[in-house]
Amino acid sequence: MSGSRSSAIDRAQRYFEDGGFLADLRRRVGYRTSSQEADCLPALQAYLRDEMRGSLEPLGYACSLHDNPVAGGGPFLVARRVEDASLPTVLTYGHGDVVRGQDEQWRAGLAPWSVVVEGNRIYGRGTADNKGQFTINLAALACVLAERGRLGFNSTVLVETGEETGSPGLGDFCRSQREALRADVLIASDGPRLDPALPTIYGGTRGVLNFTLRLDLREGAHHSGNWGGLLANPGIVLAHAIACIVDARGQIRVPEWRPASLTPEVRRALAACSVGGGEDGPAIDPDWGEASLTPAERVFGWNSFEVLAFRTGNPERPVNAIPPSAVAHCQLRFVVGTVPDDILPALRRHLDRFGFGSVLVEPAGMCMNATRLSPDDPWVRRARASIERTLGRPPQFLPNLGGSLPNDVFTDVLGVPTVWIPHSYASCSQHAPDEHLLAPIVREGLHLMTGLFWDLGEGR
Ligand SMILES: [Zn+2]
Repeated sequence: MSGSRSSAIDRAQRYFEDGGFLADLRRRVGYRTSSQEADCLPALQAYLRDEMRGSLEPLGYACSLHDNPVAGGGPFLVARRVEDASLPTVLTYGHGDVVRGQDEQWRAGLAPWSVVVEGNRIYGRGTADNKGQFTINLAALACVLAERGRLGFNSTVLVETGEETGSPGLGDFCRSQREALRADVLIASDGPRLDPALPTIYGGTRGVLNFTLRLDLREGAHHSGNWGGLLANPGIVLAHAIACIVDARGQIRVPEWRPASLTPEVRRALAACSVGGGEDGPAIDPDWGEASLTPAERVFGWNSFEVLAFRTGNPERPVNAIPPSAVAHCQLRFVVGTVPDDILPALRRHLDRFGFGSVLVEPAGMCMNATRLSPDDPWVRRARASIERTLGRPPQFLPNLGGSLPNDVFTDVLGVPTVWIPHSYASCSQHAPDEHLLAPIVREGLHLMTGLFWDLGEGR
């Protein structure tokens, strides 16, 4: 093979210009792989068996399909291309499932299960989340293979089909396949760039824990004229309990919930990061959140507590009575360093200290651990240098997203550093009608991923 780095990138460019990308994407979007529908299993299986295996086997991957260890969960595909056991292994992840089509709600001329191109926008369900992003990465691997004849590293591809229902079974599957999935790094693409014009790398995600605060003082409501002043009001007591958790500008007062992980190196990385998703987002409240921090530090480098819903009495039909109970549905988003198993015990101790022993704290389902990669991680440095070499400008690096993904499966179960390189943007309407990709980001994504995979195999 006489290929070079630039000929591989040229090949990726031609794949985009000559319609190869759109042809692959059209086929993939055509599979109605909504994991949120009850009868989705045949489509999920067909997508892995026909589309994914059909694309990966010609590239020299040995593919295996696996049922989900959780009943009713979507299947997994593991594809491995082993060039030499002594070479490093790069794990690439994608999800083949999408959210509901919401067929009736797309604007005239668009439909979820077919790809429509209008100007710079490439519409269709799954274009952004995640079929289009994954298509870019597969194409980049193919371009390097075509030009070099080999990757220069071992490549493992994992495709799951339950991401949009919370990735059931992903953790158990990875635990049971730890050997087959053993790798030196995860390089994958999902989610948005911080700014559509700036290539972005993120190294992890904030964790999330949902819980309920509940105060039941007595049976039934009591007339506020006869009993007001005599009976404690649970809505007022619970409001004060919440006020001991955060102050009036949302600053956290639970000592164990205040992170110690906002190091100078993380602060330096965040100083270059934008927040708010661009002009389509709401205006940011400058006087909200931890006063001593910058907006980027507040959302990416710190914990945030939210009251998602708060109810006492009957808000739809208030009556002149002291309600018997109050409930608040709450959430903590947290960065690495906060101990997940101690979040609720720490809250319990804090509430007790402030005299709110009667407020019950109950976990409420949603729980994912926090992950983060240091800006000085060698894989981050390699990815940054490679992207800068390809595009002529450095990418933004975010140690972790503000949102949450099951990234702890990769970092904690498989033990790999995670380098995420998103190929979408915040206003892509993922999870909504009119989901789309932006053509300039696709083109740039094809270039920078091809350059990155080329560089990872260089000299080997
Ligand atoms: Zn999604």
